[in-house]
Amino acid sequence: MKKKVLFIILGSCIFLLISAITTLSIIRSHIKLYLVDGNRVNVQVFTEYKDNGAILKLGKKKINSKKYKVKVTGKYDTNKTGMYKVDYDVKYHGKELHEVKIVSVYDDIAPELTLNLEKVSKDYCTKKYKQEIKYTAKDNYDGDITDKVVVKEEEDKITYTVTDTNKNTTSKEVQIDYGTKPSNKFSLKGQSKVYVVVNNDYNEQGATYTDGCGNKINKEIKISGSVDTKTLGTYTITYEVDGEKAITRTVVVREKPHKIIYLTFDDGPGANTKKVLAALDKYNVKATFFVTNQFGGGKYQYLIKEEHDKGHAVGVHTLTHVYKNGDPRNIYASVDAYISDFNAMNEIIKEQTGSYTKIFRFPGGSGNTVSKSSSIGVVTAIAEEMTKRGYVYFDWNLSSGDASSGKVTSEKIINNVLNHVDNCAYNCVILFHDYKSQTANAIEPIVKELVNRGYEFKTLSEDGPTVHAKIKN
Ligand SMILES: [Zn+2]
Repeated sequence: MKKKVLFIILGSCIFLLISAITTLSIIRSHIKLYLVDGNRVNVQVFTEYKDNGAILKLGKKKINSKKYKVKVTGKYDTNKTGMYKVDYDVKYHGKELHEVKIVSVYDDIAPELTLNLEKVSKDYCTKKYKQEIKYTAKDNYDGDITDKVVVKEEEDKITYTVTDTNKNTTSKEVQIDYGTKPSNKFSLKGQSKVYVVVNNDYNEQGATYTDGCGNKINKEIKISGSVDTKTLGTYTITYEVDGEKAITRTVVVREKPHKIIYLTFDDGPGANTKKVLAALDKYNVKATFFVTNQFGGGKYQYLIKEEHDKGHAVGVHTLTHVYKNGDPRNIYASVDAYISDFNAMNEIIKEQTGSYTKIFRFPGGSGNTVSKSSSIGVVTAIAEEMTKRGYVYFDWNLSSGDASSGKVTSEKIINNVLNHVDNCAYNCVILFHDYKSQTANAIEPIVKELVNRGYEFKTLSEDGPTVHAKIKN
């Protein structure tokens, strides 16, 4: 009997032990480490992320975690893009539980690309941009990435592309506008109005036909109209190509003009004087040079000799051409200052030509008012003294405008002379400056046309007629 009871007790114990072991192993196989935010979290860079951690769960039941502390290893930085690995470990009744979470800190904000233009204009002919394109690129992650902008230029557009370190790309386009193609054009060789002395020849100078960009178009230009050089009158010559856009020239056949031209050149000799001399030579026209010693430290002095030897007249302009108040060389400081500068220049002229000159031109002309700031009445006094000494000064009555402030083109100089010479006085003294390249380039066409118009040319001299401005100081 006793034995039986003992056996039952022992049997129960074994049963309970087995049950306990079985229960524990069931529990162990059902326990789970559970990541509250899941195994993968995506976080936009620069935003905050607070990890909600991991909990133990048995089925649906949460296990008090105080007893089973979950160890977290691994860090993430939400201010820096990348994939971060975080490990969660806990031991539960001898069972090791492990979970991994990936925190992906991403940046999907594309850079901001700013352009000052949506459309840019190019010159049709030169293909040069008419506006400057300015751009900046800013990125939420990289900051200023303007230097990373890639510019791709095509025929009709420019593409600006920028990519940040997280491979977000922004692209913008600027359209190129070439405008409309400029139309073909005619231009006359020579003046649009030419004068021919009756019974002289009319020389047809022709015209050029170019596209809007100035490239010559090889098509025959049909010239119509005729000039009867034996009959006084106004004639029209027409130039056309394929009946397209015509241009005309007026030819006036007239009597030989009753006028003497005095071409005068101030301020040289200088770098362009040789070219002026060559143009005058070509038409065998003589002029008057009012010379200085202001360029090249005297290295152009030999041109004074050349001017003289070719039959041109040489007069004094000034040695230094300085008339700035306060400058020790100021020629308008006093009569003596003027005469001393004058004599020094006349010495150079004598060296080059063999004799002193009797003619001169005041810097700024005798009508200048700039000398007022140096000495009141000085021009009047100089003119008196110089006349007493037997010198004769000359002004001008037609200016070529070649010394006006700002850039004067050769074309402008040509037109200034040719359009006004008819209205100039009988003794027409024209003012030029031979050191200027625009002037040097204008002289040949001017002389050619004036010769063609039948004018007579003379040089100035102390015995000839004078042209004087009104002295204002
Ligand atoms: Zn001058």
